[in-house]
Amino acid sequence: MFVSATGNPDKLREIVAILGDEIELLPRPDGLAEPEEDATTLEGNARIKALYVVNATGLPAIADDTGLEVDALGGEPGVRSARFAGENASYADNIELLSERLEGVAQEARSARFRTVALARWPDGEEVIAEGVLEGSIAETPSGNNGFGYDPIFIPTDSNGRTLAQISNSEKNTISARGKAFRELISKCAGWDLNPHGL
Ligand code: IMP
Repeated sequence: MFVSATGNPDKLREIVAILGDEIELLPRPDGLAEPEEDATTLEGNARIKALYVVNATGLPAIADDTGLEVDALGGEPGVRSARFAGENASYADNIELLSERLEGVAQEARSARFRTVALARWPDGEEVIAEGVLEGSIAETPSGNNGFGYDPIFIPTDSNGRTLAQISNSEKNTISARGKAFRELISKCAGWDLNPHGL
């Protein structure tokens, strides 16, 4: 049993679907403040989020941090993906800025990847970390209504040109960086009792 360190309902929905019945996941307690994600790496930010919830609840926590790395932008927005267009940027603001920054860049030079670090942290300091990557490219115009964040402008390699927002939730979870990271996390925890005493 873990407490989810994410307060983002879009991410939580996917994490719950990916984990299935393997791990009982409690929601992030209401009213808990958000820690400042000021680390320079995805792993550092995932640790900040997990540790914050472990310290607040005394229970094991699970966190993920995800970045979109665009090669034509030297790997930006990367660890700053949520705040690319400013502190309180919406998904639409971030997509607009990314589209602006890539204006005139040919499709073959628009390669990019999602990278997710999933991290489980226990109150005794024990930690397990896993990473997942999804390669693809940035579309010139957004398409599709599924998913969230940058999904409408991300075309995974081997998706027949469809963006992540044009495929089903279950298809996304099968190929996504988040899906790969959490499945790897579970397999790294194999042999551990993840639901002790029904806690
Ligand atoms: P976070 O810091 O891990 O919460 O995520 C950073 C930002 O990346 C989010 O605000 C989203 O804009 C974007 N993001 C995270 N996961 C996904 C995803 O699965 N698809 C599209 N965008 C995502």
